Amino acid sequence: TQETQGQLAWEKMDNLLPAIVQDAVTGKVLMQGYMNPEALEVTLSTGKVTFFSRSKQRLWQKGETSGNTLDLVSVSSDCDDDSLLVLANPNGPTCHTGAESCWFDGDVADYTFVGDLERVLAARKSADPESSYTAKLYSKGVKRIAQKVGEEGVETALAATVMDKEELRNEAADLLYHLTVLLQACDMSVSDAVNVLRERHKG
Ligand code: AMP
Ligand code: ZN
Ligand code: ZN
Ligand code: ZN
Repeated sequence: TQETQGQLAWEKMDNLLPAIVQDAVTGKVLMQGYMNPEALEVTLSTGKVTFFSRSKQRLWQKGETSGNTLDLVSVSSDCDDDSLLVLANPNGPTCHTGAESCWFDGDVADYTFVGDLERVLAARKSADPESSYTAKLYSKGVKRIAQKVGEEGVETALAATVMDKEELRNEAADLLYHLTVLLQACDMSVSDAVNVLRERHKG
């Protein structure tokens, strides 16, 4: 968690900064609230995103009644320190309407679903092996999962070789799924690979 307190423009903003909450895995914008210095302090110390509610005129931990809390990952301020960006992992839908986000319920971009899926696949690591295909796959161990990735890679390559686009779509999906499970089984994430690509691009 990035400490931002101290240099924030509290005075200019009458002690109330807008705080935009973004899903730490998918990047979806979830909600916006306001934080006073105490709300920020409580957010940082409890790890649960807490706002100052202007209607209730008190601190409001998001999810205090619904249970749909937001687990803090980091807080940072914008270029002139008068607005906060909060990265968090949501426990349930963030909007009080039951929607995932206060602004939209679809996916912003197709890629954000990879993050949603990875979160589900990560949770399957502690599930009963008989309860899902993914949980069963984890129970077979890294070698078996690695073998599946090899098979799906070959199937993907073959589909492309004969230019069967429908088959290529399906095999590429199988490959992405198994690769995500393999990375998770190794306590890694798709973002580890994405970050390597990003680093290479800089060079
Ligand atoms: P919660 O914090 O989820 O327990 O919800 C408590 C109350 O806070 C709800 O009944 C709404 O009035 C309000 N609320 C909850 N989530 C939001 C949100 N994302 N944006 C604005 N108000 C909210
Ligand atoms: Zn600003
Ligand atoms: Zn809402
Ligand atoms: Zn396949």
